[in-house]
Amino acid sequence: MRDRSLLLLISSLLLVVGAVNGSPGDADPSYRSCVEQCGVSGCVGDKCFLQCGDGEGLEQEPIHVMLERRVWDCQSECRFHCMLSREDERRQLGLGPVKYHGKWPFRRIYVAQEPVSVALSLLNLFMHFLGLLSFYNFVYKKLPLRPDGRTHYEYTVLWLAYGILSMSSWFWSAVFHSRDVNITEKLDYSFAVALLGYSLILAILRAFDVRDEAARVMLAAPIIAFVTTHILYLNFYQLDYGLNMKVCVAMGVAQLLVWAIWAGISRHPSRRKLWAVVIGGAAAMLLEIYDFPPYHGLVDAHALWHATTIPLTCLWWSFIKKDADFRTSTLLKKKK
Ligand SMILES: [Zn+2]
Repeated sequence: MRDRSLLLLISSLLLVVGAVNGSPGDADPSYRSCVEQCGVSGCVGDKCFLQCGDGEGLEQEPIHVMLERRVWDCQSECRFHCMLSREDERRQLGLGPVKYHGKWPFRRIYVAQEPVSVALSLLNLFMHFLGLLSFYNFVYKKLPLRPDGRTHYEYTVLWLAYGILSMSSWFWSAVFHSRDVNITEKLDYSFAVALLGYSLILAILRAFDVRDEAARVMLAAPIIAFVTTHILYLNFYQLDYGLNMKVCVAMGVAQLLVWAIWAGISRHPSRRKLWAVVIGGAAAMLLEIYDFPPYHGLVDAHALWHATTIPLTCLWWSFIKKDADFRTSTLLKKKK
């Protein structure tokens, strides 16, 4: 049974690698000519954009309009409004939505390009903040400490760093879903890769119960070197989506496998929680495969995926706390 679910997990994750979509929306000739005309006239239908001219008149606008126009330049306004008008035409013809430049047509709320994904990213950030805070209070205030004030649990600092890295990663995810430009995209991808690499190191150190500092450094070094090289490659050589997807899925699968096998063979009292996170995490990834268009221009599969990580985050921090409790009581029992 366990073998079969592992096989299902790996095959579904490998499917994610194959699910890289092209964009029929921006290949459409009427969309292309709309964007081209807008670049010259600065207008789509009766909507005209100040950004497309010499910027004259911008100074007199209120601050939030100025901000919106700084964030949305002429080309992105043209693309966005041509997409909306093309989608209107398609709807009247009874056709469903298509992707433009790799993305589904979303309704924009103020400056946020994908408002639901932004809100859910911020909620994920908040859940990590709560988890981190409750873990900190638990290990330093509820559990007995060593005479020097340190915790008995050997992974405290590693989990605290994990919480901070997760929060940074969700912060950049929120920024990227607000406005998808080169720099925000690179920051989001880089933090996601760094978090995946770090989580893999943590999974290995915890599952193999590596407590010696030198052994920890030796195990972490090759993964850190690999992740750093990959981040430098994405940022300064080529943002290769296909390669990045493979790297992320490989690190994600490796990590899930380490936890799954460990949960299977260890007699950890909270192994059910671990199982739930592993299976839930893998199932949530199926949403990335189905990749359906946004409902009412707001909620797509990716946004739902971000929603599923919220309960998983709660469960995960609760497992981490239980682990701290379990390790501490085992150590204290041994000392007696
Ligand atoms: Zn996202």
